[in-house]
Amino acid sequence: MSSSPSIVIVGGGMGGLSAASKLYEHGFQNVVVIEARGRIGGRVHSIETDKFLFEEGAQWLHGTKDNPLADLIQSNGIRTTKTSSRFHPSMMYTEHGTVGKQEVDIIKTAYKYYAILENKVLYPEHTKLSKSCDVLSYLKEEWLKLCARHKKEEKRLLDKIFQYICSYLCLIDGCFSLSEVSLASYSEYVELQ
Ligand SMILES: Cc1cc2nc3c(=O)[nH]c(=O)nc-3n(C[C@H](O)[C@H](O)[C@H](O)COP(=O)(O)OP(=O)(O)OC[C@H]3O[C@@H](n4cnc5c(N)ncnc54)[C@H](O)[C@@H]3O)c2cc1C
Repeated sequence: MSSSPSIVIVGGGMGGLSAASKLYEHGFQNVVVIEARGRIGGRVHSIETDKFLFEEGAQWLHGTKDNPLADLIQSNGIRTTKTSSRFHPSMMYTEHGTVGKQEVDIIKTAYKYYAILENKVLYPEHTKLSKSCDVLSYLKEEWLKLCARHKKEEKRLLDKIFQYICSYLCLIDGCFSLSEVSLASYSEYVELQ
C-alpha cells in the first residue's frame, strides 16, 4: 500500500487544477480531481471556431505584479492586450439598443459611484461602521445614498447599472448573490497591481 495519502479534489476549475498540480509537484501522487461537467476549466472556457476564439468566461488578467498567471502567460508566449478600464460606456446599451449622450453621462457617473463603493468595501475602516453584514445590503445602502440627488429617469438607469455591477461581482466572487458574501471578509481580498 502506498504511503502517499489519497486526496480527492472536487471541481476541475482553476482552483482545483492548481491545487492538484501543486500537490503533484510536492510529491503527492494519489490525487484525483472530480469534475461534474464533461470538461475541465470551470469558469474559464474558450470556444474555438475556424474564424475566431471566443472566451466565454475569464479573459482579463487583473494585475501582473506577483501574479502567477502572468508568469504562466509569459512562459507560454501568450499574447496580451492592455485594456484601459474594466467598465467602459461602449459595453452598455439601453433596452432600446441605443446609447445617447445622456446615457453615457449616467454610465460615467455610475462608474464614479462604483469606484467610491469599491474603495469603501475593500477597506474595513469604512465597512465596520455599517450595520449590514453582507456585501449586497451594504452596497445597496451606499448606492441609494449616492443616487439620492438624481432625477427619476437617471435613478432608473443608475439602478440598472447597479444590477449589472452586482452581477459582474457575482461572477468574480463565485456566488449567485452578493447577499451570500460576508462584508467582513471582503476586505481581505487583495487586488493585484
Ligand atoms: C463570464 C465570466 C467572466 C470572468 N472574467 C474573469 C476575468 O476576466 N478575469 C478573472 O480573473 N476572473 C474572471 N472570472 C472569474 C474566474 O473565472 C473565476 O474566479 C475562476 O475561474 C474560479 O475558479 P474556481 O476553480 O475557483 O471555480 P470554477 O471555475 O467555478 O470551478 C469549479 C468547478 O467545480 C465543478 N464543481 C462544482 N461542484 C461540483 C461537484 N459537487 N462535483 C464535481 N464538480 C463540481 C464545476 O463544474 C467547475 O468546473 C470570470 C467569470 C465568469 C463566469
